Amino acid sequence: MHTNVRNSIEKINLEHLLLENLNLKDHTSIHCGGNAQYAAYPTDFEELRMLLTFAQEQNLEITILGGGTNTLISDQGIAGLTIITTHLARRHVQGEMYCVRGGCPLDKAISQAIDDGLGGLELLGGIPGTVGGAVYGNSGAYDVQISDLLYYVDYMTFDGKLHRMQTHLDDFSYRRSPFTGRKDIIIYEAGFRLRPTTQTSEVRTRKDEVKQIRKQKGLYDYPSLGSIFKNPPNNKAAALIESCDLKSASVGGASINPSHANIIVNTEGKATSSDVKALIDLIKQTVQDKTQITLEEEIKYIGRW
Ligand SMILES: Cc1cc2nc3c(=O)[nH]c(=O)nc-3n(C[C@H](O)[C@H](O)[C@H](O)COP(=O)(O)OP(=O)(O)OC[C@H]3O[C@@H](n4cnc5c(N)ncnc54)[C@H](O)[C@@H]3O)c2cc1C
Repeated sequence: MHTNVRNSIEKINLEHLLLENLNLKDHTSIHCGGNAQYAAYPTDFEELRMLLTFAQEQNLEITILGGGTNTLISDQGIAGLTIITTHLARRHVQGEMYCVRGGCPLDKAISQAIDDGLGGLELLGGIPGTVGGAVYGNSGAYDVQISDLLYYVDYMTFDGKLHRMQTHLDDFSYRRSPFTGRKDIIIYEAGFRLRPTTQTSEVRTRKDEVKQIRKQKGLYDYPSLGSIFKNPPNNKAAALIESCDLKSASVGGASINPSHANIIVNTEGKATSSDVKALIDLIKQTVQDKTQITLEEEIKYIGRW
């Protein structure tokens, strides 16, 4: 660690929070990628603010990582400070409002809301990753998007200030939120206006059913990032990829999931992120050449690409 960085850490007492050179392979569901120069798991507002101040003082780039289930991390790693949100996971209920921190796993948040007698999010059961990641990319399934029940988002800008955004459906679209693409905020808390219910066991069963269907479709069989590409208007990315005879395409350790052509898998755990990226580029180019349709990534790239 550079001396000036160490001095600053000691000054603001961050020593216990900062990890140096953290391997991120196990922080992404496809299990590839390099190291974070510095990483930290803040557990509350104050720790988060201290980390942001430290990074600003040291001129360190800041990267936010949730569950890493929609993110390809460069093999070259991530320069600067990576803030991993998974320890920011508290929740509370105010009437019909379910308020949950951004690092809580989405599936767990949905279960806890049901335990609290609140339904509405159950069709999103089984989507891996955190609440913050789901809000960032407006995750969805079965024609439900997370934005459908979202009421507010508390986000912190990297100057340490907390802001509340009252959300409106018009601000969201397919896999897009007002936060998508922003690299200057962290989603700290989301508030959902849910439906009070006394039928909690039925709601829980519905959630378990959709999760089971996902399992049967083979979505969790191999390390992956879920769907790589967004569905183009009036088309399905998986069908386009199949129509271009790409189902058996592979690069290095990265290949296409035999049961879902829009998913790249790291079956034996030997793929690098560069393999995955090269396969993505191959698919995009082939689909473009054969169908004149441009596929757009749903996944995000982080680190030094
Ligand atoms: C097997 C499998 C199935 C999947 N099925 C679905 C599905 O049905 N529907 C669907 O929509 N997605 C699906 N996904 C994709 C993924 O689960 C979702 O996009 C998920 O919501 C991402 O959350 P995350 O915490 O893992 O985000 P990450 O991958 O950690 O991050 C994604 C992006 O969000 C940013 N980010 C994350 N947290 C925050 C935060 N708190 N503040 C600011 N920025 C943040 C990151 O910087 C990054 O740019 C699937 C993935 C897998 C592996």
